[in-house]
Amino acid sequence: MSGLSQRVRALKPSATVTINAKAQALRRQGVDLIALTAGEPDFDTPPHVKEAAWRAIQAGKTKYAPPGGIPELREALAEKFRRDNGLEVSPQQTVVTVGGKGALFNIFQAILDPGDEVIVLSPYWVSYPEMARFAGGVVREVATRPETGFIPDPEEVARALTPKTKALVVNSPNNPTGAVYPREVLEALARLAQDRGFYLISDEIYEHLIYEGEHFSPGRIAPESTITVNGAAKAYAMTGWRIGFACGPLEVIQALEAVNSQSVSSPDTIAQWATLEALTQWDASQAFIEHARTAYRARRDLLWEGLNALGLPTPKPQGAFYLLPEVSRIDPNELKAAERLLEAARVAVIPGTDFAAPHHLRLSYATSEEALREALKRIATIL
Ligand code: PLP
Repeated sequence: MSGLSQRVRALKPSATVTINAKAQALRRQGVDLIALTAGEPDFDTPPHVKEAAWRAIQAGKTKYAPPGGIPELREALAEKFRRDNGLEVSPQQTVVTVGGKGALFNIFQAILDPGDEVIVLSPYWVSYPEMARFAGGVVREVATRPETGFIPDPEEVARALTPKTKALVVNSPNNPTGAVYPREVLEALARLAQDRGFYLISDEIYEHLIYEGEHFSPGRIAPESTITVNGAAKAYAMTGWRIGFACGPLEVIQALEAVNSQSVSSPDTIAQWATLEALTQWDASQAFIEHARTAYRARRDLLWEGLNALGLPTPKPQGAFYLLPEVSRIDPNELKAAERLLEAARVAVIPGTDFAAPHHLRLSYATSEEALREALKRIATIL
């Protein structure tokens, strides 16, 4: 008997990855395209991190690592979660994964039985519902809205809970809205998780990219119920190194290790040594982050002002590197709007469809100011 599983047939390929590939293919054909698609820093990985990888290769640190990660990195992670997030976890309560994506994938595999419900806050990052469903979960959406800065209302979340609720995913700073949730909201959601007995999956991958407001880790309030996810990709411009990490209750972290052990064995050993350097050479890393953050802030202001001036209403985000304009002026159907931008203006963007953001496009400003200015000029020509 041949054929694909129902599970995999139901899986939608990531829209972001697909459209980015299309943009890259057009570029290869010589089309002068401005891509505002990728959720990827345009900076190079900092030199101290690259050198650590080179040193690891030279020293022969090129073998399998333990499934939870090299002990040195897990110790550094426990220290990172204490230093940056105020979380008290042992190295055994941390795990290294293949990207933040790998952490999330393993988490859903580890905690969901068929029919268990996962609440996601829309607009959401495209992979949460797909990964949850792939693990047998049922996805429930609770909306956040532009009028309230895309900040969730904990009371609305409480109303969506059922006896089958197993987890709530929060992502602050948020992809695609750029919202940074206030501390009170995260505290309320953490208390809800604790009192009602579900997991709070807190995806904090953009924690260092905040322009206004402060990052808060809900694991401080509900350490027994929160699984904190993070990674090296966005803070240290290490997207291709594929290192993510998580911390949380020991039982869950051990399960993530077990999933690693039977799927990928361990994340890349060399990349783990490089990540160790990023986390421990903190002065150099902080200088890098500060430099990137200053650049992103200026780019956000430029693109945000430009889009609103073109009559595309765009809330001002406080973090990450995305904007979510409402684009009915280009076309009420966001897929058509994205197509028009690609074909008539040679600007690649992601339609909001898969983020549950109809009438919106997601623009990434992880690119040069020059490219952003040119993109705005091109968008103006079709309006
Ligand atoms: N979480 C969010 C919200 C993201 O936007 C991304 C990447 O785009 C990830 C997690 C995963 O990042 P990575 O797997 O590259 O570490």
